[in-house]
Amino acid sequence: IGKSCPGIPVRVALRCRPLVPKENNEGCQCCLTFVPGQPQVIVGTEKAFTYDYVFDPTAEQEEVFNSTVSPLLCGLFKGYHATVLAYGQTGSGKTFSMGGTYTSAQENDPSVGVIPRVIRRIFEEKDKRTACEFCLAVSYLEIYNEDILDLLCPSKDKAGLCIREDPKEGIKIVGLTERQVSTAQEMVGCLEVGNSARTVASTAMNAASSRSHAIFTITLEQRRGTDKADSVVSKLHLVDLAGSERQKKTKAEGDRLKEGISINRGLLSLGNVISALGDESKKSSFVPYRDSKLTRLLQDSLGGNSHTLMIACISPADSNMEETINTLRYADRAR
Ligand code: ADP
Ligand code: MG
Repeated sequence: IGKSCPGIPVRVALRCRPLVPKENNEGCQCCLTFVPGQPQVIVGTEKAFTYDYVFDPTAEQEEVFNSTVSPLLCGLFKGYHATVLAYGQTGSGKTFSMGGTYTSAQENDPSVGVIPRVIRRIFEEKDKRTACEFCLAVSYLEIYNEDILDLLCPSKDKAGLCIREDPKEGIKIVGLTERQVSTAQEMVGCLEVGNSARTVASTAMNAASSRSHAIFTITLEQRRGTDKADSVVSKLHLVDLAGSERQKKTKAEGDRLKEGISINRGLLSLGNVISALGDESKKSSFVPYRDSKLTRLLQDSLGGNSHTLMIACISPADSNMEETINTLRYADRAR
């Protein structure tokens, strides 16, 4: 997995959304305090948490993008892989932050999230670099119940796709649609197709979107001159993770287990992988990538020669305090 990157492997941005109308109507209060000028949040009156960045409810999408994601794009053009992960309980703002409901009708809307901004910036940067030849491709998939589903071709993969590790090209998903695109509009088109496939599937699977991970991947190949061997390939994964709340097991999983509570396997192993990466004393030891499809798939883009950003999303409402503390702790472990 590439050479070790001297920088910080994982950065954590905490983002708190505003109270939503439903919370206001129910009389919810904000249970968090933000320390001006400090990347810190205080829960209740006691516990303080510090991250690389903290965005209070007034932070705009543009500010979040410019300070956290934009630097990763510079790295991408230098040949570094990058991964952006949105983590948090259902309703905390993951999809809003990532831009997972974007349609091209929102082109000039300042409230659009990370993915459409990334697309715009990548094409701007590409157009500035006239000495290079670029090839861009995208894929969009969903991991649900440890099955990999192709969001750009949702009908063909009822059984789920397999992951294979290629000694030269790294992690590959066999049969996954990879669309070559030459304009920002084409790439946005792929985002829209996948977003609507995700919406359809989630209605059919009973709000499965809260239990699935969606991964939009941009592959950038750059070449100086005509020599194919001279090309650099870097990958950017933009991930809207499954809701971090513990799931009540459904009847379908057997009556005996009905009351049980399950933790999403991907989130559990992601936490273990990220904390192993961040722990200096474990640097050379085992990183448990193989424990879930999510971490296997992201294996060559987490740690090693790559940059990772976790956007931990939280609600400010006192009614969500328990889940918020869980998210603050998970994100704290990632640092
Ligand atoms: P999740 O994907 O984590 O389940 P959503 O992104 O769907 O959560 O957000 C839940 C609701 O909160 C949506 O109505 C969304 O528009 C709103 N929301 C989330 N973050 C923000 C924000 N930073 N500013 C304004 N509204 C937000
Ligand atoms: Mg969502």
